[in-house]
Amino acid sequence: MRLTDTHSHLYDEAFDADRAEVLERALQSGVERLLLPAIDSESHAALHALCREHPECCVPMMGLHPTSVNENPRWREELLLVEEYLRMPPIGLTPYCAVGEIGLDFYWSTEYCEEQIEAFRTQCRWAAELDLPVAIHTRAAWDAMCSIIEEECAAARARGQRLRGLFHAYSEGAEVYERLRKTGEWLFGIGGVVTYKKSIVAEAVKAMRLEEIVLETDCPYLTPVPHRGQRNEPSYVVHTCNKVAELLCVTPEEVAEQTSRNVERMFFRER
Ligand SMILES: [Zn+2]
Repeated sequence: MRLTDTHSHLYDEAFDADRAEVLERALQSGVERLLLPAIDSESHAALHALCREHPECCVPMMGLHPTSVNENPRWREELLLVEEYLRMPPIGLTPYCAVGEIGLDFYWSTEYCEEQIEAFRTQCRWAAELDLPVAIHTRAAWDAMCSIIEEECAAARARGQRLRGLFHAYSEGAEVYERLRKTGEWLFGIGGVVTYKKSIVAEAVKAMRLEEIVLETDCPYLTPVPHRGQRNEPSYVVHTCNKVAELLCVTPEEVAEQTSRNVERMFFRER
């Protein structure tokens, strides 16, 4: 079985003590590739260092996280740094596979929603211009997200470009899924939450086409059952794979194979 963890914060300090062992366990479980989202300049060095150390399996993204816009008077400078990296990627680094993670997070505060929206739209436009997919974080903001995606997809098409990518940690039901998939070419990142009791994501997954699903951990967060309560790690993506297989009445091998193909198609096809 070959798997990709499409959203992994393995460079996070939560793994400072045993990062090599965690990565070894991932490879042993069949997780052959990790896509690593950026957050902001505080963690760029750690992200880049890990990807330089393991170019065979660790692939970086570049983007400004919505919660790093909140209460940050320097967020526009952060955004310019992201643009610089995207337009002139560091020499010797595996190319960025996506603009991410970017998005909207109104969970902690709505005080900065205008700023978050501006940062998000700006990064969507860079992604469309550079023909890179986006990796989108959405929390307590799904309605605004749907409207903006509809607008930005249409605007990209009008410019002769396309906006496409991944909704990381998809956490809504079938209705939002149907609304989003109509706007263009999207994948839906399913994580540990799908293994929790009474998860609405589980209901949404039943409505999804396997061709639109990818697997993720969002480690060190959102740990799947049976490890819930502990630190999450990339090897646990296996549990999410098994749960998705159960929901779609197919084998885990089929889920692994098709989700790997989906990753190739979105993030690694010839550009
Ligand atoms: Zn993340």
